[in-house]
Amino acid sequence: MGARLAIGACAGEAYRYDGDMTASLPLARLAGFATLLLATASASASIPPPPGAAELAQRGEDIAWAITEDLTTEIGPRMAGTESEAAARRWAVARLQAMGFANVREEQFDMPVWVRGDEQAWLTSPFLPQKLAITALGTSASTGPKGIEGDIAYFESFDALVAAPEHLVKGKIVFIDHQMAPAQDGSGYGAYGRGRFVGANIAAKKGAIATVIRAIGTDDHRNPHTGGTNFEAGVKPIPAGAISNPDADQLVRQWKRAQQMRKTETALGYVAEPLRMKLVLTPQNLGTKHSGNVIAEVPGSDPAASPVIIACHLDSWDLGTGAIDDAAGCGIVTAAAKHVMSAGQPRRTIRILWAGAEEVGVFGGKAYFEKHGTEKHAVALESDFGADRVWRIDFKLPDSAKGLADRLAAAVAPFGVVRGKQPANGGADIGALVQAGVPAVDLAQDGTRYFDIHHTPDDTLDKIDPAQLRQNVVVWSAVLAILADSEESELP
Ligand SMILES: [Zn+2]
Repeated sequence: MGARLAIGACAGEAYRYDGDMTASLPLARLAGFATLLLATASASASIPPPPGAAELAQRGEDIAWAITEDLTTEIGPRMAGTESEAAARRWAVARLQAMGFANVREEQFDMPVWVRGDEQAWLTSPFLPQKLAITALGTSASTGPKGIEGDIAYFESFDALVAAPEHLVKGKIVFIDHQMAPAQDGSGYGAYGRGRFVGANIAAKKGAIATVIRAIGTDDHRNPHTGGTNFEAGVKPIPAGAISNPDADQLVRQWKRAQQMRKTETALGYVAEPLRMKLVLTPQNLGTKHSGNVIAEVPGSDPAASPVIIACHLDSWDLGTGAIDDAAGCGIVTAAAKHVMSAGQPRRTIRILWAGAEEVGVFGGKAYFEKHGTEKHAVALESDFGADRVWRIDFKLPDSAKGLADRLAAAVAPFGVVRGKQPANGGADIGALVQAGVPAVDLAQDGTRYFDIHHTPDDTLDKIDPAQLRQNVVVWSAVLAILADSEESELP
């Protein structure tokens, strides 16, 4: 990486790319900026070509930040199917209209709504009672206000629980260990996440009275990470929670000592008992309620051309204000669309989808597919992995788009983005479209610290690095401008 480079001063807004972070712009590009500055300064200079979307994104207003700050400040947490999420949709419609987008609308759908209640837990025996930092997982059953208490059945991993005979689980509170390690590509989420996604379901089928997992997170704070858990049809949900990493460490230490005490009798003067936990989780199912998607468009000049769809999700978990998940994603995709629109009308329509109810089961993405799945879409992209920089571009494009992929990779290389070797997989809200064959491009963000914050009370605006957020918008603007002008022969 080369020297640091100041850009953007021409818009009266000091903004600097950090050379360590992503990209110093190549000299040719710097020359382009110099030309632009000279032209602006001197009325007699020849008129330069109008700036492209990526250039506007580099030096213009910080639209993504403004959306992220305003949404998280004025609405805050936006739990799917609640009045807060409805308020967020009204906010979104007003904002997208004010930004000059066309066909701004809300498309409602129904979904089952679950809301959090009281949540407390203690390790009660064989040591003195100690309180744990716990949060309920989405769709968890209630323990009732008085709570439940039981012996802990410890499993070092999800796979150990799967392999366990029923008698080790029946009547117990299952604890699933297995600390997630950070990775730039976030790849730990799939493997470690299984304990959250379906651990409680497996435990319920084996007769457990509750499940508590080590939170799916990479931080060392006493913030448990929430998230959805899924019970298959016919399995009665049990209470399910997650405790923070330090609390899980404490539980494991007590578990080991309790095991030891059982072997060596009562050397410490304690009665050798199994490790026990008391759990109070009182979430509620509120039945079927409305949620909705918010859609806006940049109309293309060729009405016959299929649209480019760019997505994020508007709902959030309720513990934080949903800044990195996913207000920032909505800020990024919307800012890119705005910059493309400002640079001149694209050939294809750009459709922006702010999906509802993603966190609790991708209800918005499914509803979009039910309503629009039979329409042609040229390509789909989603931003839902925080606000740290884009470092890799992946494609899932038809053979006809080989040249297009090369143009895209070349356009983002100056911003520190490498070309991946694996196919793009889209994102949750466009997942159904991509499964049905719609081409996809992924702009993979650096996930090294994403799971420190993900689904915790710490998902707040201050965690967003404005420089990295803007790098996202620059990369998205460059990519979106090319996709929206792509040829009929390249994309469906
Ligand atoms: Zn998300």
